[in-house]
Amino acid sequence: MKIKNYMKLTVPAKSVNESVIRSCTAAFAAQVDPTLEELSDLRSAVSEAVTNCIVHGYKDSEGEITVVLKLTADGWLYIKISDKGCGIEDVEQAMTPLFTTAPEGERAGLGFAVMEAFTDDLKVRSAVGKGTAVTMKKKLSGKYE
Ligand code: ATP
Ligand code: MG
Repeated sequence: MKIKNYMKLTVPAKSVNESVIRSCTAAFAAQVDPTLEELSDLRSAVSEAVTNCIVHGYKDSEGEITVVLKLTADGWLYIKISDKGCGIEDVEQAMTPLFTTAPEGERAGLGFAVMEAFTDDLKVRSAVGKGTAVTMKKKLSGKYE
């Protein structure tokens, strides 16, 4: 499907940039007048993905988070959020609800479950030592040409 608009954003993996990415994604999506619920779902999903890059991907290091947004002419929003951090050894296990490698902290192991629940598709690609890329797809109701 034809790409109607796109955006690419790279920021340092600082917690302040979690809200920057969340707001930018909502602003980008707003161009098609989605529902408030869709915007809220998007914010939640993006927030979980970005937080994971910061607290897990770059747990012992610093680096960048890149967000790519693509909007198709028929209202699909593609969101790719990637880091070049530590990567995930077992993606299937990591995506299991309640699984967390940080149980001593305030982590519940529900981030991927939230991303899955609030979008129409979730794919995770990761390589240990190289990084992680989370791709989500969400259909936005709204105005299309
Ligand atoms: P919560 O999101 O509920 O605070 P959590 O972050 O542990 O807890 P998920 O977001 O579901 O739960 O992630 C599950 C596990 O996957 C994490 O504990 C971590 O081990 C791994 N993980 C997720 N994202 C990344 C990432 N970008 N880089 C490295 N590891 C990751
Ligand atoms: Mg998480």
